[in-house]
Amino acid sequence: MAESTKIQWCDDTINPVMGCDGCELWDDARRTCYAGLLHAMRGRTNKGFAPTFEQVKEFPGRMAKASRWSDLRGQRRLDKPWLDGAPRLIFVSDMGDALSAAIPFEYLKQEIIDVASTTLGSRHVWLWLTKRPLRMKEFSGWLAERCVEWPANVWPGTSITAETSLPRARSLLKVGDDTTTRFLSVEPQVERVEFGDLLPRFDWVIQGGESGGKSRPFDLAWARALRDRCREGGVAYFLKQLGARPLDGGRALKLKDRHGGDWTAWPDDLRVREIPESIRFPVVAAFAEPRVLRRLHLASTEPVPRPPAFTRPDLSAASTDDLLAEIRRRCGT
Ligand code: SF4
Repeated sequence: MAESTKIQWCDDTINPVMGCDGCELWDDARRTCYAGLLHAMRGRTNKGFAPTFEQVKEFPGRMAKASRWSDLRGQRRLDKPWLDGAPRLIFVSDMGDALSAAIPFEYLKQEIIDVASTTLGSRHVWLWLTKRPLRMKEFSGWLAERCVEWPANVWPGTSITAETSLPRARSLLKVGDDTTTRFLSVEPQVERVEFGDLLPRFDWVIQGGESGGKSRPFDLAWARALRDRCREGGVAYFLKQLGARPLDGGRALKLKDRHGGDWTAWPDDLRVREIPESIRFPVVAAFAEPRVLRRLHLASTEPVPRPPAFTRPDLSAASTDDLLAEIRRRCGT
């Protein structure tokens, strides 16, 4: 279990499940998944890991411990200023895939959904990333059959590495409901990907090149194209890293950081690390267009506003005046 991470788009990571059924980064042809490599080194000796990466193992109680971590709403981050003011952002499942086949839905409900919905858990945002959004969609439907709502502070995300992984994005759109915040992790991107009309249906796009052994090139033209498509679609865009082999205009870009994660060394136009504004203005987000939210954020003054805990606003009996008053109250305007 980790309480802090160098991953730029979150504050911490947590793993209620360790190990994974594999993907394009961990199969017979390629073994570059860092979670798989770490398991190969530590799995048999460290009790905090699955015995082997393929022997997926549950670790109940980790999420509950994480829910007690301090409240970061309204706080500054010295090392990640782009997260200033946001609730604590916790990446769920960076050392495996909790949607691996052996993990029952009952466990996922109890360990993830129920914990995120508690008073303590609702102070944070849980970024649940999977390469199995189809199973996540089934899980979401299973919850709905039991009258359990997908919590607003659990953001489902999926990984896109190449054109062939685009169906994952379509499956993810069926997780949760109309109020669910969804994100795409386009990392490691290994080829040009055309998202078409899919992109504006997401709230956040994180992009990055490949690092580690056997890294494949990352063309900065892909970053510029995705950045621009996100701007057009009103989607928050976050460039995480350029990877170990960035190419700019066909030439290798030499960077000291082997992950290409130090944005001070990047071309100026690519230093973009946005987060969805709904994270700072959750009630406004229920009504407003993304561009409106962006303007609200730009107009905000110091100190960074402290957003409320994540709850579903009850809109049933509210008049328009009530709603506007609530929005103004929450934004401090
Ligand atoms: S799904 Fe994630 S954890 Fe599993 S092998 Fe692929 S990259 Fe690694």
